[in-house]
Amino acid sequence: MAILDGTTAPDREAPPARRDRYCALRDAALAELDAFEALDRAAVRPWQLARLREQLAHARRNAPFYRHRLDGVPGPAAGEGPERLPFTTKDDLRRGYPLELLAVPLTAVARYGESTGTTGAPTSSAITYRDWVRGNVSTERSLGHRFGPGDVVFVAIPYELSFAAYDLDRALETVGATVVGTGILSAVCPVERTARMIATLRPAGIVCSPTRALRLHDLLREAGHDPASLGVRTVLYVGETCSPAKLAKIAGLWQADLVPAYGTTETNSLALSCARGRAHLTEDRHLFEVLDPVDATPLPPGHAGELVLSTLRAEAMPLLRYRTGDLVSVDPEPCPCGSVRATVRHHGRVGDRLHVAGRALDRLDLEEAVLSVPGTGLHYAAGVVGEDLHLRVTCPDRPARLVCPEVTERVRTRFDVTPVVREVDRATVARAMDAMLKPGNLGLADLEAAP
Ligand SMILES: [Zn+2]
Repeated sequence: MAILDGTTAPDREAPPARRDRYCALRDAALAELDAFEALDRAAVRPWQLARLREQLAHARRNAPFYRHRLDGVPGPAAGEGPERLPFTTKDDLRRGYPLELLAVPLTAVARYGESTGTTGAPTSSAITYRDWVRGNVSTERSLGHRFGPGDVVFVAIPYELSFAAYDLDRALETVGATVVGTGILSAVCPVERTARMIATLRPAGIVCSPTRALRLHDLLREAGHDPASLGVRTVLYVGETCSPAKLAKIAGLWQADLVPAYGTTETNSLALSCARGRAHLTEDRHLFEVLDPVDATPLPPGHAGELVLSTLRAEAMPLLRYRTGDLVSVDPEPCPCGSVRATVRHHGRVGDRLHVAGRALDRLDLEEAVLSVPGTGLHYAAGVVGEDLHLRVTCPDRPARLVCPEVTERVRTRFDVTPVVREVDRATVARAMDAMLKPGNLGLADLEAAP
């Protein structure tokens, strides 16, 4: 096409062909999803192992990191699992930053992202357009259970450098919802503005972290609104884990369903909710293992351990036995929704476990024990001082002299550890959490450092 100075524009693909390409990729991805869902549960693993061999060959051939890492390492034989392959860790990703893990040239990358870098040097993530569309259709299927035309939905999670917000945003758009992409903590739309807009636009759904759902609830109450009467049916929570007890309290405050979506920066979504609100693993795109986080031995179904994943269809960034650092348990029973995929429950991060008297306590199990005691509020803080577990609880509804001993007893019964439990006032908790990047992990040190 000639332009004003008489030169010729670069040779680019014409827009209609791009649209055709999108439609073809989308149709293929939806067909893949349907084909996977039609499998019997017994056929899932053989199907995955065949994909794993292809993925291993792709990684070994095309990703510089795996070319070195897998040099001389035999691949699994037909029907054999990934157990003999080496792990890939977050440190490997840091060392491979930015492009060593890529198995395609940068020209084939549709999206590039990075981790926040809050726990060390950043890591990169990359996807091709096919990778992206595959993820999009899964998310779209999941959100289609909850939202449709006429529903306003706020996306109040970070858009910067990650894929999740854009993925959810696109999926909502595709199912016909009205998307309000507020992001979170930005200069343009701080949380106070998001709260005001919720009061004005009365969304059917909010995508945010559980802690943010509480903060928005507080702000709306302070502004004189009854959040439960604003029409929010669903809070889709991402980015942070939460105990069932805390989720039940948040659901009660909003009078809304709380449904999970789970993923990592490196992989995008790993579990998406079904019509019953349970999180199903993306087993059509990943092979999952649940391992003891200390000695990396496999754990039986239903036991909480570290989630380790191998991608099965990733073009841009194949990952083999990637240790997510997330503690999960996979339900051995099928979900009543009828999906062939297993369901998963998140128990927090391996690195967030508390070590008391030779025992490792999972943060969410501890949260569940503490917050399920009647009269505890929405927040608690935990920390280890010397050999002792210390807990701080808010007691908005019952006297602390009744609540604290019950918390002590509940924790002692559950974990065989006798904690020191004291009350903390809500204002101190709020000041501490406002100063935290990840307020779901409130600890004693955060309370002491509260401004
Ligand atoms: Zn289900």
